[in-house]
This record gives sequence, C-alpha cells and structure tokens, in this order.
Amino acid sequence: MLTADLIVIGAGPAGMAAAAEAGRAGLSVLVLDEQSQPGGQIYRDVERVVPLRGDLLGADYAAGLPLAQGLAEQGVSHLNGAVSWAIEEGGRVMFTRAGRAEQAEGRRILLATGALERPMPVPGWTLPGVMTVGAAQILLKQSGVVPERAVLAGSGPLIYLTAAQMVRAGVPPLALVETQTRGDALRAARHMGGALRGWRYLLKGLGLMRELKRAGVQRFVGAEALAVMGDDRAEGLRFRRGGRDHEIACETVLLHHGVVPNTQAARSIGVAHRWDAVQQCFSPVLDEWGRTGVEGVLIAGDGAGIGGAKAAEYAGRLAALQVAEDLGAITAHARDEVARHLRGDLRRERAIRPFLDTAYPPYAGAITPEDATLVCRCEEVTAGDIRRFARMGCLGPNQAKAFGRAGMGPCQGRYCGLAVSAILAQETGQSMDETGYYRIRPPLKPVTLGELAAMEEPVTDAAE
Ligand SMILES: Cc1cc2nc3c(=O)[nH]c(=O)nc-3n(C[C@H](O)[C@H](O)[C@H](O)COP(=O)(O)OP(=O)(O)OC[C@H]3O[C@@H](n4cnc5c(N)ncnc54)[C@H](O)[C@@H]3O)c2cc1C
Repeated sequence: MLTADLIVIGAGPAGMAAAAEAGRAGLSVLVLDEQSQPGGQIYRDVERVVPLRGDLLGADYAAGLPLAQGLAEQGVSHLNGAVSWAIEEGGRVMFTRAGRAEQAEGRRILLATGALERPMPVPGWTLPGVMTVGAAQILLKQSGVVPERAVLAGSGPLIYLTAAQMVRAGVPPLALVETQTRGDALRAARHMGGALRGWRYLLKGLGLMRELKRAGVQRFVGAEALAVMGDDRAEGLRFRRGGRDHEIACETVLLHHGVVPNTQAARSIGVAHRWDAVQQCFSPVLDEWGRTGVEGVLIAGDGAGIGGAKAAEYAGRLAALQVAEDLGAITAHARDEVARHLRGDLRRERAIRPFLDTAYPPYAGAITPEDATLVCRCEEVTAGDIRRFARMGCLGPNQAKAFGRAGMGPCQGRYCGLAVSAILAQETGQSMDETGYYRIRPPLKPVTLGELAAMEEPVTDAAE
C-alpha cells in the first residue's frame, strides 16, 4: 500500500498548490486525480495544451503552468488517472488506476475535488446534442473540438468565457440565451463595493462581452420557459422573453447555470454540510484552515464553497500549512507568517463573489422543474414523480431512493441531488437544511469486480 503524510484528492489549483506547499515543508504527499493530466477544471491538461491552444484559451489558463510544475516539488508524487472511490476515517483511500484497484494511507487527507456544474433539468435536457457549457469547454481545451451552430443557455460568467473561446476558435455560437434578469442586476448593485475590489474580473467580463458583440453573437437576457426542441436530438431552443416566444434552430444546446461544490467525497465520510442561501448549494462546515469535523480530513478549493481558481489556490496552501504544523514539520509561527498574507489574498479574491452570485442566480425553472422533466437521468425519475413521492409522505432525498430509485444510478446523485432536495423542500415546506441531501456511500464512482480482484497490497512510500 502507498503511504504518505498527506493524500490530496484532486489536482486542480487547490490540490496542486497544497501539494507543493506541503512538499516544501518536508512532507511526503500523494496526489490522486482521475484526469489524465494535472490542472483540474480551469487548468485542465495545461502543460500539454498551452503550446497548442494557449492563445485561444487566454492568459488566465496559462496561469496554471507554474502550479502544475509545482507537482515536481521534492516529496510530492502525483498519480494521473487515479479515480478515488472510497475514503475511510483513519486515512485510507481506495482508488482505481489502469484497471486495478489500489489503496493508499495518509496521516492526513485533503479533499480538493472542486466543483460540478449545477445540473440544469429543463425539458429536453437529456436529448443528444445537449451538453453543459463546461463539457463543451473541456472538449475545446483538451481536444480542440468546438460544436457548430450552438446556443449557450443559462447564466454565469462561464457562458461568456466559453462563448468567447468559441469565437476565438473560429466557431462562434449562434446566440446566448441568458436567464438572469434586470432585477438580479439591480440586486447585485448592492454588492458593488466588493465587485470593485475584484475589478480585474469585472474588466475581464466586460472585455468578453465586447468580444462577443464584435463577433455578432446575439444575446437574449431575462429568458424564461427554456425548452430544448427536437424528438430524437436537439434541433433548437425555445424560450420566452419580454412576453414573446422565441425559437432558435441549432444543432447543439449548451446549458449552464453556475457551479456547486462537489461534496460527494466529503459526505461519504460524514463531513457536516450546511445550506448556503447565497450560493444556493450545500457547503461543508470547516474551520479557517479547511479542517472538517472528521479527524484528519481537510477540504480546500471550490469543494468548500465556490470561490474561483485563485481562491482555491490560496485555500489549498492554507490547508497544507495547517497539516505541516499539525505533523510537526513547521512551527505555528512559521505557519501563521505565511498564512497572514494568504488570508489577505483570499479575502480580496472572494470579495466579488456576492456580486456574481446575485447577478447570475441559477435559473429558477431548473431548480424546481416542471412535472414532465426528467430529474434523475440515471433512473429516469421525473420532477412529477418526486412531487408524487412527497405527497405520499416522502420527506427527504434518502427516502426518495426507496420510493423510486432517484439518485441510485451510476452518478450516485451528482446530477439530480440538488434538484431532488429542492423539489422536496418546496413540496413539504421544509428548509433545505431540514430536507438534507443524499447519504453518499462508497463507491463514489463505479468500480468493476475485475478492478477489485486485481488489487495488490505491497507497502511502499509515496515519496520514494
Ligand atoms: C466544467 C468546469 C469548467 C470551468 N472552467 C473555468 C474556466 O475556464 N475559468 C475559470 O476561471 N473557472 C472555471 N471553472 C471554475 C474553476 O474550475 C474552479 O474555480 C477551480 O478550478 C477550482 O479549483 P479546485 O482545485 O477547487 O477544483 P478543480 O479545478 O475542479 O479540481 C478538482 C479535481 O479533482 C478531481 N477529482 C474530483 N473527484 C475525484 C475523485 N473521486 N477521484 C480523483 N479525482 C477527483 C477532478 O478530476 C479535478 O481534476 C470551471 C468549473 C467547471 C466545473
């Protein structure tokens, strides 16, 4: 079995920064990530892709290079393609790599598993030809593939960024259909102070919008009643705006209405979570270093609450400093010296979030979808089914599993969890905290019997 002082799950900005910081402090670190290369979502495959398409993806993407190079720090060992599917209290992690299940044991575990796109169940969202905006961006980043005749629909800055990247790739989208309203913009104005502290992001956003305008990409703001048209595949997007119905014929519909913490791993080991009414998601309960209530387990990055790549990096370093101090590699004084600066940087990075979260709220029509819309796509459970379960006495998502298998498919609730909780809360009148979320059990990701059978258990040191 591999052993290390610190096991980091996730090689995005939080995980990479934490690993380098812990390595510099003299700890042995094992980084596990299911992707083929380090980088996480924003810096996906950054070392390979910057020379190929760096100009198209922009300077913020190339900013991930030094972080990926930090994995070469003394004491850090990084395993690509390592899908972690079980974490046990006491520091043991099970993962699958190259067709074989393996185990590793760490004195501390840092979960840096990032964010997921908030699922957007609208009529027709399961048709071929519908993807998330993030998925399209992954295709573009990793393979240079861009969907043609696409419409991007929903809300949030990732829509502008991806649309601009499509423009730069020479395949501009047909239109952006945005669900945020003028009222959201007015409410967001209250957070202008914080937004001004994050002025770089504001300027970047304005620059992206100018780029889209120059390229002639149409924008429809304040759209509602979104529905993907088509019988066997997506053929267009229908929506209402300003009292009028619109239809745009297209080949691909890209949906997005924000990202939410990926809490599956944390939940599987019993970390407490709380409903965040501003970000409209569940976030883990942590202290200022990212420590959870579960002994030896910390969380950093978007998995702890959405803050963006830079915030993830700073939070990763803070968690690593705490682990280093805890394991006696550095003094509390040395930890606090570095942490002081990091906390200032972190505050500045997070300042713009209330503005963004208010200006780009999730699309209400996908939070509590209409009855006929599939919510749990693995088990084909509709929003109407969930409402029917509630009327029959189902109070929470775990009971919904027994009523109709919602959340019991291969995605283990990642796609439907928030929608199922929101629909039940709406029907029962309970709060989201009272309604709760699926109880997550291993395996977090599918694992085959063959992979389990191939498991070996030699004891080696991760940093050797
Ligand atoms: C699809 C998508 C695209 C985005 N694109 C942008 C962008 O272009 N620009 C921008 O500013 N922000 C973007 N964001 C937001 C940005 O990714 C985050 O703010 C930032 O990456 C958070 O960093 P992180 O280290 O917390 O997590 P991430 O960068 O998400 O890294 C988490 C890593 O954990 C790994 N992981 C998760 N679960 C497991 C597991 N069980 N086993 C093994 N590995 C696991 C993932 O493979 C991933 O590499 C995007 C978010 C998403 C979801």
